Amino acid sequence: MDAAEFKVRGQEMVEYICNYLEDVGSRRVTSTVEPGYLRPLLPKEAPQEPEDWDQILADVDSKIMPGITHWQHPRFHAYFPSGNSYPSILGDMLSDAIGCIGFSWAASPACTELETIVTDWFGKALGLPDDFLSQGSGGGVIQSSASECVLVSMLAARAHAIRQLRRAEQPKSPASPCPSDTDDDGLLDNEAAGEETATDSTYLPRLVAYCSRESHSCVEKAARIALVRLRILEPDEHSALRGATLAKAMEADVRRGLVPFFVSTTLGTTSCCSFDNLTEIGPVVRRHPDVWLHVDGAYAGNGFICPELRVHMQGIQYADSFNTNPNKWLLTSFDCSCLWVRDRLRLTSGLIVDPLYLQHSNMDETIDYRHWGIPLSRRFRALKLFFVLRRYGIAGLQRYVRNHIKLAKSFEALVRDDHRFEVCNDVRLGLVCFRLRGPDRMNQQLLAALNESGKLHMIPSMVRGRYVIRFCVVAEHATEADIEHAWEVISEHATDLLDEVPL
Ligand code: PLP
Repeated sequence: MDAAEFKVRGQEMVEYICNYLEDVGSRRVTSTVEPGYLRPLLPKEAPQEPEDWDQILADVDSKIMPGITHWQHPRFHAYFPSGNSYPSILGDMLSDAIGCIGFSWAASPACTELETIVTDWFGKALGLPDDFLSQGSGGGVIQSSASECVLVSMLAARAHAIRQLRRAEQPKSPASPCPSDTDDDGLLDNEAAGEETATDSTYLPRLVAYCSRESHSCVEKAARIALVRLRILEPDEHSALRGATLAKAMEADVRRGLVPFFVSTTLGTTSCCSFDNLTEIGPVVRRHPDVWLHVDGAYAGNGFICPELRVHMQGIQYADSFNTNPNKWLLTSFDCSCLWVRDRLRLTSGLIVDPLYLQHSNMDETIDYRHWGIPLSRRFRALKLFFVLRRYGIAGLQRYVRNHIKLAKSFEALVRDDHRFEVCNDVRLGLVCFRLRGPDRMNQQLLAALNESGKLHMIPSMVRGRYVIRFCVVAEHATEADIEHAWEVISEHATDLLDEVPL
């Protein structure tokens, strides 16, 4: 395809995208295909010779689109939103066209510098402490996912904890390498890194991380990857982790000779959008100076763009790192997960590997984001966030967030008005958890019937040991009419179900 054809096909694609997004509401929200549906519809092998573009697009329309779950559909109320908007799509398009790989400042200076600037802008707009901004000791980085943010924070905390243990126990530990392996900044000397990595593993059985039962499963996955013990603690009756619970667990572990090194908290949990109590947890963590406190605000963190919601992040001053995903609740398409740290050296010191081919002459004065995460190659993700922040402005983004909260409250009021149902979470943002008053089985049947109808899509979760249905406000331009429609569908299905199986 040359530039002339690209212009024509590009215009057609923009047309296709606009038609799709404008008309997505007329489709079934979920697909009806069976597993394995696609393979028999497509050629057995990739074509030997170039194919006609129209034919390829025809296959997309007739074979691929029927298997799509439409996350941008106005009746999609599952999970959390999958951020999307025209400015973001254009940002990704330009990023793809530039096609740079921003692993170091030298690899594409603007790619690195824009990432630092937009994470500073966004961090400031959220009201994060100044320490998290790049002018101080900290800074922000864009990762692919919240899971990656949690993993990277845990790996940095693990590296720090091991360094501290090695220093403290040098004379006692026969396996430990000599102290000269760390330089003045506490960074590893590359030549000794292989040997150290092997001996580092001897400390792993003593390290303990903590999270709440309500934390996202990515914390457990991170602990598995990092090969560390994870204590999963019970939250209170509002699904919030409390300081006293954490203190008790940490103290018991210290008495056992274990070493607490990482606490992962959540602001806006996946199951029910509850908030861990950071004002209690922060001082508990501070009693252990080498423990890293991470705050996962994958969805809810975006909401702190509204000053009135910052009450939910009280205690953030205790955090070592914080993540939120504009690709969930800030109109930015996947992937765009922002992670801020209070101390960038502490983040990168466990991850620096510096072969000659990646070095450059400005390394001492610039950021090389390859040290801030797992992959070397990195997309120019800052562009789409730059477009979104500038095109909507903070005020536009605040309007979007506030509209979702207002609509969630409207939905909550409809549920509360119907004696057959109960609301099961504290509705603070865009998520309402509700259930029929009755056994879990009945709620499972209701959700299955709703999803099968293709008229709405929702998912379940467990709140305080009971099966609930999650209703999340998702669409960019969601309206009161959408909420009323959703409630009509839910309440009709409930009536049908209760006619068949009375409570
Ligand atoms: N943390 C929270 C609170 C979440 O709600 C989610 C997903 O919804 C995640 C982490 C995982 O996000 P990701 O898919 O970006 O890894």
